[in-house]
Amino acid sequence: MSAGHGRAAGRRLIKGARPLGGPPADILIDGQVIADVRASGSGGRGSEPDSDVLVIDADGLIALPGLVDLHTHLREPGREDAETVESGTAAAALGGFTAIHAMANTEPVADTAGVVEQVWRLGGQAGNCDVRPVGAVTTGLGGSQLAELGAMADSAAQVRVFSDDGRCVADATLMRRALEYVKAFDGVIAQHAQEPRLTAGAQLNEGEMSARLGLAGWPAVAEEAIIARDCLLAAHVGSAVHVCHVSTAGSVEIIRWAKSKGWRVTAEVTPHHLLLTDDLAVGYDPVYKVNPPLRTAEDVAALRAGLADGTIDCVATDHAPHPAESKETEWSEASFGMTGLETALRVVHEAMVNTGLLDWAAVADRMSARPATIGRIGARAAGPGELRHGCPIAAGSPANLVLYDPEPIAAVDPAVHASRSRNSPFAGMKLPGQVVATFLRGTPTVLDGKLTT
Ligand SMILES: [Zn+2]
Repeated sequence: MSAGHGRAAGRRLIKGARPLGGPPADILIDGQVIADVRASGSGGRGSEPDSDVLVIDADGLIALPGLVDLHTHLREPGREDAETVESGTAAAALGGFTAIHAMANTEPVADTAGVVEQVWRLGGQAGNCDVRPVGAVTTGLGGSQLAELGAMADSAAQVRVFSDDGRCVADATLMRRALEYVKAFDGVIAQHAQEPRLTAGAQLNEGEMSARLGLAGWPAVAEEAIIARDCLLAAHVGSAVHVCHVSTAGSVEIIRWAKSKGWRVTAEVTPHHLLLTDDLAVGYDPVYKVNPPLRTAEDVAALRAGLADGTIDCVATDHAPHPAESKETEWSEASFGMTGLETALRVVHEAMVNTGLLDWAAVADRMSARPATIGRIGARAAGPGELRHGCPIAAGSPANLVLYDPEPIAAVDPAVHASRSRNSPFAGMKLPGQVVATFLRGTPTVLDGKLTT
């Protein structure tokens, strides 16, 4: 691949890429938008570019719309030893993302207009991808008092997704009030479904492995009970609930039932829950400690089927960086969480494409179009068109694109990741694919697999 480096918008011709894995095409970018998409070799402007057009040879690469993550922990403000907006968005760009939603469990918590505007501004300064702050549902994630949802929605950050992620909004009355409140501005409550009393002290999926290892069990019902309750609440008040990181077969069944009623319920699954099981905990390595926990092979199969049939709308990373001292300790002391931005597309390739469950068009739907719609930044979102994500690869769309080479197979090496943290459960695992380039509104953030500067 050859191209002019550096972050300047201009005219670029991506030659021979395969949009959504289909036939090769030439994609002309002019400034911030896609100006033209035509079959390769069809003549005209596509084959004889003007001298001011930078040509990018993308022969054999798959072109997807820039990926959108609904669930990223950037850790800034407060835990810059684990991640910063700068490092986390660099990791996102290297993973093919052009927009991410930054969770609210920072220090201080993102529960005011001031904090969400700070995160939003830092995202703009870094310039690696769009950062959409998620606002806390309750003040300080305390679970007892609604945060300033309206002020966050009206702020420069224009928050539309609210979540106490890391904690569950356990109080049914508060959850109802939050769902009612966000209806006024078409917001959505993203719930971390974890019944707190059923999971007090829980360490690993409740089952054979937790019994064998002597770790306190985390029952599936603790997730499923909250999801069922919140689907009913959302239906009762006519509002929108989004279920974070679905991890059990029963949860998929409940969401399928709620959707069959026409209720406004959406859901996400993480890459790690699509590929890994609780068997990996056998050596007590805390790199496999995560919330919700890794489950069984039956759960993994149900999650894959749910993502394939659309019951689960999208993949979201739950990228949760932690410094080494928080993970390289004994299991019960270690923090919950795994990094995921830089491996997400490769894991989905392995778990969903190589198994024949999704084609690349469906991957684009589950990792770009649908999460963008749920995050209120999709093709039909309110507000300026140039800030939309998940749009088709077609003339007139913002030029948010990822070029992906499906051919290489290589072991994951967290040491080379842009994230400040190294807690990848995929370390050493051979996975297919490589993100070669990412374009944010026509500007390359990644070229030749490396961050541009
Ligand atoms: Zn969570």
